[in-house]
Amino acid sequence: MLTEDLVDFHCHLDLFPNHGALIEACEARRIKALTVTNAPAAWRGNQDLARGCQHVRVALGLHPQLAAERRGELGIFERYLSETRYVGEVGLDGSPGFAPSLRDQQDVFRRILDLCAEDGRKILTVHSRDAAGMVLDEIETRLPPGRGAIVLHWFNGTLEEARRALSLGTYFSVNARMLDSERGRKLVSMLPAERILTESDGPFIQRNGRPTSPLDTGVVIRRLGGCWGLPDVEVLGVVRRTLRTLVS
Ligand code: MN
Repeated sequence: MLTEDLVDFHCHLDLFPNHGALIEACEARRIKALTVTNAPAAWRGNQDLARGCQHVRVALGLHPQLAAERRGELGIFERYLSETRYVGEVGLDGSPGFAPSLRDQQDVFRRILDLCAEDGRKILTVHSRDAAGMVLDEIETRLPPGRGAIVLHWFNGTLEEARRALSLGTYFSVNARMLDSERGRKLVSMLPAERILTESDGPFIQRNGRPTSPLDTGVVIRRLGGCWGLPDVEVLGVVRRTLRTLVS
């Protein structure tokens, strides 16, 4: 299993009790990790975590599941936005527990997309659980191609929605849990390899009874290799090239 030079484009390092050691390990193994922020008020603390890092980057976000209670923090979001190129976790969540707050979620997501479009070169890691069509509608209207890049994290939409996303130029970050399901593997097999990044979504995804972290994304590489019929090293090469294209 590969343990170095990995890519984790969506994780929540601040939510790990041992985040200091984890960040040191990412740095030592040259693992490109993007740690997301769930609420703007947590930005300063998160930014401090990764201060001086070569390989760990921090995204500023307002998680759709917190949109209703934290929409008052949009002002803080706006104030800090110029401090990072990365935005997340943002998006919409249409699953039963969160569908009631979709109006608040939409207000927040629209405002964030408008701010990003204005800036013109942000990279967004976007949550779209049970709301893929709505998320794509917002992106299509508010973030025209060339005004920013979208990475759909843990996509669970239909194949048709995935095709629509591709036509809008989005990337996809894939985690181990997605590749556990037939549906996830089907999705991955229809996506062009050069639109795929890897993620752990740790600590929210568990494996063998413990939360996965950027250090475990070698598992995702291996499973992608299984889908593509390629050795791990080549898959990692493809993913790293995709990341370079995305950030360049
Ligand atoms: Mn997440």
